[in-house]
Amino acid sequence: MSWYQLLDIRKQAQEEFDWFADNPPSNCPRDGEPLTNSPPADSGSSVERFCKFCDFEYPRDWVRPQRL
Ligand SMILES: [Zn+2]
Repeated sequence: MSWYQLLDIRKQAQEEFDWFADNPPSNCPRDGEPLTNSPPADSGSSVERFCKFCDFEYPRDWVRPQRL
């Protein structure tokens, strides 16, 4: 494997990381269950997604992953 291939893999991993960091989670980060989309926020609620199995709410409890 060449240097260039390694650099390419690294670049791709960073792009994937950015994608995941910038998009809402589709699964609960606590228990891995699929999140449920909230109905349109007529009630003034800012909850976009929530977990039925714990009290996780997006974006309230969402912590954007930080690159180390
Ligand atoms: Zn959960």
